[in-house]
Amino acid sequence: MRQVDRLQLDRASVGGRRPSGRNSGAHPVIAKARQGGSGERSCKGDRLLPDLTLLFGQLNEQLFDREIPAIEPTWSRRLTRTAGVFWWKQRRDAPLEYGIRLSLPLLGDRPLSDVKATLAHEMIHAWVSLHLEDLNHGHGVFFRTKMDQLNRQTSDFRVTRYHTFTDEVRRQAKYRWDCVDCGTVYRRQRNSINPKRHRCGRCRGKLLSVPLEVL
Ligand SMILES: [Zn+2]
Ligand SMILES: [Zn+2]
Repeated sequence: MRQVDRLQLDRASVGGRRPSGRNSGAHPVIAKARQGGSGERSCKGDRLLPDLTLLFGQLNEQLFDREIPAIEPTWSRRLTRTAGVFWWKQRRDAPLEYGIRLSLPLLGDRPLSDVKATLAHEMIHAWVSLHLEDLNHGHGVFFRTKMDQLNRQTSDFRVTRYHTFTDEVRRQAKYRWDCVDCGTVYRRQRNSINPKRHRCGRCRGKLLSVPLEVL
């Protein structure tokens, strides 16, 4: 019997769930989903996700000279319209509250580089808000200057001004395969999936190459 590789569900399965108890090895830094703050609940099952607090510490050291006050970013299941958010709350006579949330539905199955890029994006918002003390900066000159500086320093990911990856990934993907059994869609920038050798990572079904229109 011919050996078939099991595809990792590393992208293009937004909203999908990995079979529990399996470590796909897609992310070098992995940890169980943290119990989120602000009423967020952690994901049921043994889904493995990058450890955001660890990543925050690494990026803060490497790219921000530790100028961002400590934040423990959390995964959010409810955040679906944006890949990440830096939030803050100013209450009278109380210290500023703030945090970072990343979208589990949008990022949970994506490569670590996308998680890092999203986290770094939100960390720039945190840096401008907390270090430069400009809470209402948007993606203005402070944000863009820092973003350009980061992109010169990093090679494993790239920060953009966008808050969702979906459109960007779709635009970049030149190849697509669909699972004929469960319908999971796999998108790749290169012709890297061979339906004779690869099966669906979720159900082991056969994959069908889908021609894409060139826009
Ligand atoms: Zn932003
Ligand atoms: Zn399938």
